[in-house]
Amino acid sequence: MLASLRTYLTRKVHASQRLCVLRARPKASGVLVRRKYLALDARDARKAVCRLFASDHPFAVERLRRRSPPVPREWRICRFCRGRNMVEDEAHVLMLCRAEPLRSRRGAFMQAVYAALRSEKRAWPEQSPLSFLNAVIAEECTEHIAAKYILDMFQCCDAVPILVVTSVEQFHSYAMP
Ligand SMILES: [Zn+2]
Repeated sequence: MLASLRTYLTRKVHASQRLCVLRARPKASGVLVRRKYLALDARDARKAVCRLFASDHPFAVERLRRRSPPVPREWRICRFCRGRNMVEDEAHVLMLCRAEPLRSRRGAFMQAVYAALRSEKRAWPEQSPLSFLNAVIAEECTEHIAAKYILDMFQCCDAVPILVVTSVEQFHSYAMP
């Protein structure tokens, strides 16, 4: 029974375009497993990690999908860099966007992560942005840094109005970076 539920959920996660952070989690980590980050003391930060995994975050890729009528995915442009081909999704906001205030916050986050890894004498291979983020969340010495960072990035989004594109003309008014 549990095995078939696990198989069902694994298939569901990997078929879902929305659950891209969960999809980037190593397959070996499985489903229906209690994660270490759930024991984090900081309630708001812990909740932010759960929201990120469940695609219940403030990024335009999700918020504008829920809008009526839904905004086409490629029109869900990043509110910070406003580049025409920059969809405001999880990887873009958390790991790639070069606009402020995201860039400086990410710089501090990366420094803290690498300092923690150095002090534990750990090194990680090169990996995709979302795989890296999953590794930082899963690792005991960095999970609190990741959770605080994710909460901080959510708050950055809450402080800046979302960019709503409603026409082809408006979409083309934003420059390609
Ligand atoms: Zn951006």
